[in-house]
Amino acid sequence: MELIPCCHCGDLFPPSPRHKSQDYCMKPKCRRAKKAAWKRHKMRTDPDYKFNQRMSNKKWAEANPGYWKGYRKKNPEKAERNRILQTIRNRRRPKNKDVNAKVDASLIAKVDASKSSNFKVVGQFWLVPVIAKVDALKVNIHEISTPYH
Ligand SMILES: [Zn+2]
Repeated sequence: MELIPCCHCGDLFPPSPRHKSQDYCMKPKCRRAKKAAWKRHKMRTDPDYKFNQRMSNKKWAEANPGYWKGYRKKNPEKAERNRILQTIRNRRRPKNKDVNAKVDASLIAKVDASKSSNFKVVGQFWLVPVIAKVDALKVNIHEISTPYH
């Protein structure tokens, strides 16, 4: 039987003859990834499902007050990552629904932007993948001396 690569882990696996379009292997983490991908798709394409999920989450949060506050306190890295990702989502979101809306000038690249030298890329940053579905990565960028100048 021909082996196919798993969409999540990349390992080769024998597809089930019953599921012609199987693209995830049977490892628990890959099955979770498949379910999460399905849910993301459903949230994007099914307004009723999205509404029901929101209502359900809201109801649960009301029944468990303080859970998310405690979660953020216990997992400051995840809270920070989420804050960054939300900032990116907010920037991508159109300012208003008007099709002829003004384009946000701050999002347009300036030709002379590279001339600015007062911005130093030194410090702690999150590398946030825009397309690939992988976790964000925290990096430290240090300044090193350049002896050949
Ligand atoms: Zn897999």
